[in-house]
Amino acid sequence: MGNTYIVNIAIKGIIPSEAWWYIACEKCKRTATQDGSFHKCIKCGATQPETRYQLTVHGVDPSDLKKDYPITADFTFFGSVAKELIGVPALTLVASVQGRRDFMLTEIARLYGRQLIVKVNASRRSLQMSRISY
Ligand SMILES: [Zn+2]
Repeated sequence: MGNTYIVNIAIKGIIPSEAWWYIACEKCKRTATQDGSFHKCIKCGATQPETRYQLTVHGVDPSDLKKDYPITADFTFFGSVAKELIGVPALTLVASVQGRRDFMLTEIARLYGRQLIVKVNASRRSLQMSRISY
């Protein structure tokens, strides 16, 4: 596991090519695959899907926010962590864009510049451009 550090980051941007939500298995939170008109989890077999956040952002040191090319690390926030950030349930936002995954909403765009305190694992901390999930 290594040591855990608390670091302060600022959200520099959202990765535009990546979906910020997915259909998850309600039970184990893995991506649910569609089987006809049903969703079925290949891991646990549950058939109840759930619309869930999977929001990946570029994080920077807050003092680097105004720099053009700061060192960034990617952070992915899932489920309730992302919901807390955005302030709206995933289903509400997804419904408002009719399920489009490539559509960037003001609710998400307004996260730019937001400062967060995150826990970072020491072994990952040394990896720049690594992806850290919550
Ligand atoms: Zn499952």
